[in-house]
Amino acid sequence: MSDKIHKRMQDITLGVNDTPIALPKSVFVQATRANRLSIVGTLVNPRKQNMKAQINHLPRVWGMEDTVVGRIVDAWKFQFVFQSEESLNLVLRHGPWSFSEWMIVTHKWIPNMSHSTMKSIPLWTQIHGIPSQYLTLEMVNVIGRSLGHVSGVDFNENATRINYVRVRLDWNIDHPLRFKREFQFRHNESAILSFYYERLRNFCSICGMINHEKKECSLRFDVGEDDDDAPEDNDEDNANHGADHNDDGNQDDENPDLNENDNVKMEKKKIMKIDARLIASISCLSEAFSEKYFSLILDNDMSAET
Ligand SMILES: [Zn+2]
Repeated sequence: MSDKIHKRMQDITLGVNDTPIALPKSVFVQATRANRLSIVGTLVNPRKQNMKAQINHLPRVWGMEDTVVGRIVDAWKFQFVFQSEESLNLVLRHGPWSFSEWMIVTHKWIPNMSHSTMKSIPLWTQIHGIPSQYLTLEMVNVIGRSLGHVSGVDFNENATRINYVRVRLDWNIDHPLRFKREFQFRHNESAILSFYYERLRNFCSICGMINHEKKECSLRFDVGEDDDDAPEDNDEDNANHGADHNDDGNQDDENPDLNENDNVKMEKKKIMKIDARLIASISCLSEAFSEKYFSLILDNDMSAET
């Protein structure tokens, strides 16, 4: 019988109901002390990120290959052990970090770290487009909180020139990123604000999730043969990205060789594609989020009809 079969035979519950074995408190305290100077994290796209390669790579990026030890904790989690609090904080301060062009989650280790903490990445987010007459610290906070949990604000009310404000959002990696949202400041006075996520790497430009690429998106709709021309991987630069970005690689220019009917057909195809994606995007949002989104669309439709 092979070792493999012998090993599998032992995968049974015999003994699980025996009296629990109490471990000495001193050992527990020592383990806590050993972990105190460490960062734990997960990969957001394990299909594209090799855990072992990442463990070796990041300490070199930090210039700490001789002092930081990385190890794989389980299939989803890794840990970096530091020699000093200063170097650990330095790494966290310069995050969030990425590997193979995809984000990774990193947090300072604490006992009993919650599952939700391991799902969040602190993202400094630039908010562009707040009308200057409404630009106050409280307004920035309110807008930031409408996007997610705010753990920091970078805004000086006394600055002489402000192009944008920054908020640090603890972004849940299970939620889709949004890049433009309409905000109503007063009745009949609204503005579309744009968001730029600093240090963000690849994301799906169809649904906004950061854990898969566009070609793996379950919301991808193939509504025409021309989709075969779409690029394989088009997780474009965040700086150039927006909700209105034409990300499918199709040319916007009309083809002069096509007759009028062909042009109309192409135009309809484009509209169908946009509508399908819009509906699909809504369906993947959380319930509360989609309610707000639906009401915005309904408001827009009603105002367009009047
Ligand atoms: Zn997607």
